[in-house]
Amino acid sequence: MIDVIVIGAGPAGLSGAIECARYGLKVTVLDEFIKPGGRLLGQLHQETSGNWWNGIKESEELHSKATSLSVDVQCGVSVHNIEKVDGHWYVHTNKGTQLTSFVLIATGAAEFPIPVPGWTLPGVMSIGAAQVMTNVHRVKVGKKGIIIGANILAFAILTELQLAGIHVDRVLLPEKSPFSQKAAIPQEVLKSLLHSAHLAPSRLLRFGSKFMNNEKLRRLGIRHYPKKGFKLNGTPFQLRKAALEIVGVNDVEGVLVADTDEEGNTIPGSEKFYEADFVCIAGGLYPLAELAAVAGCPFQFIPELGGHVPVHSEKMETPLEGLFVAGNITGIESAKIAMAQGTTAGISIANSSQKCSANIDKELQKAVHNVHNVRRGSLIHFNPDIESGRKMLKDIWSSQYEIKSSKLNNLKKGS
Ligand SMILES: Cc1cc2nc3c(=O)[nH]c(=O)nc-3n(C[C@H](O)[C@H](O)[C@H](O)COP(=O)(O)OP(=O)(O)OC[C@H]3O[C@@H](n4cnc5c(N)ncnc54)[C@H](O)[C@@H]3O)c2cc1C
Repeated sequence: MIDVIVIGAGPAGLSGAIECARYGLKVTVLDEFIKPGGRLLGQLHQETSGNWWNGIKESEELHSKATSLSVDVQCGVSVHNIEKVDGHWYVHTNKGTQLTSFVLIATGAAEFPIPVPGWTLPGVMSIGAAQVMTNVHRVKVGKKGIIIGANILAFAILTELQLAGIHVDRVLLPEKSPFSQKAAIPQEVLKSLLHSAHLAPSRLLRFGSKFMNNEKLRRLGIRHYPKKGFKLNGTPFQLRKAALEIVGVNDVEGVLVADTDEEGNTIPGSEKFYEADFVCIAGGLYPLAELAAVAGCPFQFIPELGGHVPVHSEKMETPLEGLFVAGNITGIESAKIAMAQGTTAGISIANSSQKCSANIDKELQKAVHNVHNVRRGSLIHFNPDIESGRKMLKDIWSSQYEIKSSKLNNLKKGS
């Protein structure tokens, strides 16, 4: 029988699988995509050190490390249910059911859709889809595009589209609605982007953004924000413009846009039409956690982590015996943090397994510590208040679940 089934061959899943295998466990990784790597496959950016982060290369390294440790990586396998029967986990997939002692769920994140009139026209896609088409499938998404939604992921992918020679005409906000919420309010958008201002492509923007941390200056900055926007590598970012409708007959022909006030309310009579042959909608990310829910794991709603997350400890264990989680399913963060969490989950699983006789408590503590260190040094923060979200969950775990879980582990280890 397999000791561990890992669901998701992204950075978290592969790192977890490698660690389990290093401690002698028999591991299978299942992923519904055609190749391993998860969202890493689409990532390409230059780090502050000047080195390039090439996600395809990183994925290949993780995959070959896993296979060299005899991890069985199966692609094109979609998991739709997990249940525990008579002390074993049954993992139900489109290719049959597999049985295991431990499950690590590392299914990553999904994108929030922001509905915009005309969004069903061919040529409209999520910003993540544009990343996959460009960097994974090497397909040009169009000749001239508009990005609706301004967040850290949108700007990361804007740079990737520019690197691929695709012209993005402008980045603007969605229209204010119950669906767009904070994404349509200039004040909120600017506040959340300021946490990543060190990544701005021009010195002037990096310098100017320092003053924007002061609320009064920020309001002033928004009031006098230039209509043409500020250019990011040549693409204007228009904080005071909102997309009213994506226009076209058979496919995208352009976007109808209006100016907005400081609160994001559109100004009647200011409408303009901008031509485009593709549109990307960037609504942000949330943890893809349905499988933890069907397994019966309790959840908490923590907006700082990106929404509903399965309850888990810093050792990546859940309150359900034998069920572990790692990566973006636990909160939206970058790939390096997902890897560090995967490693922690792998050691944690080995520590809980009777097959691993070594005392690896110290390694586990080190791995938990490493997640904090990687987070502190992270270039990209999808959610600026991630640390307080993590602290909230840690407190919930220690007040409601910790004693139960450590009692269980002691019983298993016979102490
Ligand atoms: C659209 C998008 C773009 C992103 N771009 C960036 C970026 O540019 N830079 C950055 O730092 N971060 C980016 N991220 C965040 C990214 O999720 C993390 O950087 C990192 O990849 C998270 O790793 P993970 O292992 O948790 O999940 P992922 O890398 O998302 O891997 C999860 C894997 O699980 C598989 N899976 C999901 N559900 C199932 C199922 N039911 N059955 C079988 N397999 C399943 C998926 O196919 C996927 O391969 C992006 C996220 C998204 C959603």
